[in-house]
Amino acid sequence: MTTVETEFGVLAGEQRMLIDGELQHTSSGATFDVIHPASEQVAGQATDGTVEDMSRAVAAARRAFDESDWSRDVDFRYHCLHQLHDAFDRNKERLRRILITEVGCPVTVTGSQIESPIDEVRHWAEHGKAFEYLVDTGVHPTQMGPARRKIHYEPIGVVGAITPWNVPFYLNVAETVPALMAGNTVVLKPAQLTPWSGSEYGRIVAEETDIPAGVFNVVVSNANEVGAALSADPRVDMITFTGSTATGRAILAAGAPTVKKTLLELGGKSAHIVLDDADLNSALPMAAMMACVMSGQSCILPSRILLPRSRYDEGVEILKSSMENFPYGDPWDPGNMQGPQISDGQRKKVLGLIRSGIDSGARLVTGGGIPEHLPTGYYTQPTLLADVDPDSQVAQEEIFGPVLTVTPYDTDDDAIAIANNSIYGLSGEVSGGDVDRAFAVATRMRTGNVTINGKSHFGITSPFGGTKQSGLGRRNGDEGYREYLEGKTIGMPE
Ligand code: ADP
Repeated sequence: MTTVETEFGVLAGEQRMLIDGELQHTSSGATFDVIHPASEQVAGQATDGTVEDMSRAVAAARRAFDESDWSRDVDFRYHCLHQLHDAFDRNKERLRRILITEVGCPVTVTGSQIESPIDEVRHWAEHGKAFEYLVDTGVHPTQMGPARRKIHYEPIGVVGAITPWNVPFYLNVAETVPALMAGNTVVLKPAQLTPWSGSEYGRIVAEETDIPAGVFNVVVSNANEVGAALSADPRVDMITFTGSTATGRAILAAGAPTVKKTLLELGGKSAHIVLDDADLNSALPMAAMMACVMSGQSCILPSRILLPRSRYDEGVEILKSSMENFPYGDPWDPGNMQGPQISDGQRKKVLGLIRSGIDSGARLVTGGGIPEHLPTGYYTQPTLLADVDPDSQVAQEEIFGPVLTVTPYDTDDDAIAIANNSIYGLSGEVSGGDVDRAFAVATRMRTGNVTINGKSHFGITSPFGGTKQSGLGRRNGDEGYREYLEGKTIGMPE
């Protein structure tokens, strides 16, 4: 967490998108409104790009990949990414205000959404510079005599990056910077609710770096068809996407005719298994905080708390008091750690799922609605539902709100079975006094990542991704860099 001392206030971002090196509006001049979720007021407009604009951006990226030295000149890419890092750093406070304006993210917790991704640009520049692009695997016997084999790691080509609205600047960086450093060219399509975190990135590239025309493009639009056009375009070699599982399925299907490589980070419904020897007073306040800080709008949130029946009432009580005392409200006030939901539609979805939980027999322990003292802004009370049936809709669907569900279990096997009873497999958490036992439980969770006793699995140096319907492939770590490369095996004389 970072406390930021700066001038706060709603700030409209760059309206134009970046296509083939030029900051531009869509030709019709059409725009759409960006709403500040804490005031429900229009903060400004973004250009409403079309399928035609997307086609021009893909053409530019294709040409830049096929006809320039970008894909082969690692030193130049290193230079450009360092420029990008420094430019982001200069624009940091502007990016922060735009983020809060678009998302309603509390200023106090913006460090992981602004400082961290800016640092990551430098990380990828260094990682990509040190990467071994040519590996000699030695001499191999063949029926035609010995052959030396080398593997040459090459960029994939044109990468389409489609990003969601919950952590927009972070994900815009996470999906595009390793791709660029690896030598690909990129078309970024930011989410409708957060166009400026994308268009500002485009402006900074155009005005403050030497990244050549066509290498990096941003197409802003209010229409899902524009993302769909990117994911179906035969000139695009790879799609990297973060968002809902439903959209991930559509992207996979759209890429099938051209067998497009896809890197998908999709929904989650992560479980937190609290073992009977856990320190509840440490594990559960932290669990409540994680549920609230991003208004629950986090794919890795462990939103299903599984408590041993022997300590169930004690656990529910700790969660209740943590959620009731959580500071939320105006995101510009540094005292608050939870802001509004991003939109009226999202809040309606959250409230609908809470209602469905109560209708299916869950007990509403606290929260459950719109706070009376915050009538303006899309705020939702921190909400705790106990006695939740693991098969019910509220235990199966991703809520994306400040909501925890609690379910009791009897044995460790029971807890693992409930945790794995999900179409998702993104993250998980285990809390327990005996770390070996907690580790054994973690290895049986069918997810891509697990946190034990609050020690986070998440960070730029470690692979991150989902199993089951939570995704394909990995971000971060060396695995995350290799996703943007293809190994070409070359057989040659000894
Ligand atoms: P949400 O439903 O929470 O808005 P989505 O997963 O639908 O999240 O959106 C994430 C991103 O996917 C956004 O940039 C959105 O514009 C884009 N998108 C939505 N539908 C499609 C689609 N059919 N093909 C490609 N991208 C899409």
